[in-house]
Amino acid sequence: MKTGTCRCDNRIFFNNHRCLSCDASLGRCNVCNSLTSFSKEEKSSQCDTCKTEVFSCVNQEHDVCQSYNAEPDALCRWCQLTNVIPPLDNSESVQRWARMESAKRRLLLQLEDLGLPPYVADTQMTHPLLFEFLENTVDKKGKPKKVITGHQNGLITINLAEADSVHRERLRVKLGEPQRTLIGHMRHEVGHYIDWAWASRVAPDEYHALFGDPDSVDYGEAMKKHYEVGAPANWADNHVSAYATMHPWEDFAETVNVYLDIMAIATTSNELAGRNLDLSASADHRELVNSVLQIVLEVSEYNFDLGLAPLLPERLPPAVLDKLAYVHDLRSKVAPEIAEQTAVAN
Ligand SMILES: [Zn+2]
Ligand SMILES: [Zn+2]
Ligand SMILES: [Zn+2]
Ligand SMILES: [Zn+2]
Repeated sequence: MKTGTCRCDNRIFFNNHRCLSCDASLGRCNVCNSLTSFSKEEKSSQCDTCKTEVFSCVNQEHDVCQSYNAEPDALCRWCQLTNVIPPLDNSESVQRWARMESAKRRLLLQLEDLGLPPYVADTQMTHPLLFEFLENTVDKKGKPKKVITGHQNGLITINLAEADSVHRERLRVKLGEPQRTLIGHMRHEVGHYIDWAWASRVAPDEYHALFGDPDSVDYGEAMKKHYEVGAPANWADNHVSAYATMHPWEDFAETVNVYLDIMAIATTSNELAGRNLDLSASADHRELVNSVLQIVLEVSEYNFDLGLAPLLPERLPPAVLDKLAYVHDLRSKVAPEIAEQTAVAN
C-alpha cells in the first residue's frame, strides 16, 4: 500500500490514525487524494498537503473512517459505497464494521490505482458497486437467518461475522483454505463484480477460452459437486486454488484475488523497498509476477521463521499465469459502447 507523509516528515502508513512523533491527526484528504496530517479546528480541519479547509467524513463519528471531504456533513467517496451498516447500538458490531470499512478502503484504493472497475470508463454509472455488511439474525419463529457472503449485480454482501478472527479461523480450517482474510474476501467478491461489470463485456471470447463458458455449467450443480466430491487431484496444474475448480465464475474471482494480492505486494515493495517495478497496464505482466514471486519466496521464509503461513504460493503454473495476464490486460480494454462511438466518429 502507498504511504503518505506527516507535517513532521514522518512516514504515514495506511493504518495510522495519529502521528507517533508529533501527535498530529492523520487521514485521507478527498481533495488532494493524499494520506496526510490535518490541523483540527473547531468545525473543520485544514489539510497539511493541499492547505484546503476540509470536513470530517460523517463516519469518523463512529471511528470507522479517517477521511476528510470538501463539503461538511458528507460521507467520503469510500463510505458512500456502503449501502447497509450494522446497528450502531452494539459496540462490538461497530468495531467489526470498522474492520470491514478498513479492508474495503484498502480494496477501493487499489482498484482506483490500477484503473479497474468501478474506476474505468463510466462503470460506476452503468454498473454501480455497492457493499452491505450484514449480521446473522433470528426470525420471529426463532429460526436462524444466515447471511451468505457473495456478489449479485454490483452488490457485495459480507457477513459481519467474518470480521471476527475466531469465526474466520474456524471456517478456514473447516473449508481447508490456506488463508481466509477480510481483504481476501473483498478481493474475491470484487472479482465477481469485475466479471459482471467488465470482463464479460470487454473480452468474453478470451474469458471463455481460459476460464470456460459460465453459462454452460449450472452453478447450483457445480457447487453441490464441489462440496461432495472436492476438487480434482491435479487442480494446482490449472487453478490458483481448489475452490477455483468449482465453476468458471469462481475461477475468475479467485484469479482476480491473486492478481490483486500480487499487485499489492508489488506496490508495497516499490514504496518501502525502493524497487522500481512497472505496475502500469502496459507493463510486462510475466516479468512483474516473477519479481513478486521472488519477494514471496523471501517473505514467506520470514513467516516460516515465526511459524506463520506463506505469503502466497511460491510457484504459479503456466495456465494460471495466462489467466493472470488476462486480468492484467482488462485494465487496458475499452468499453464496447465507447469503442462503437469512436468507430462511428472516425
Ligand atoms: Zn507527525
Ligand atoms: Zn488535501
Ligand atoms: Zn468515510
Ligand atoms: Zn465466489
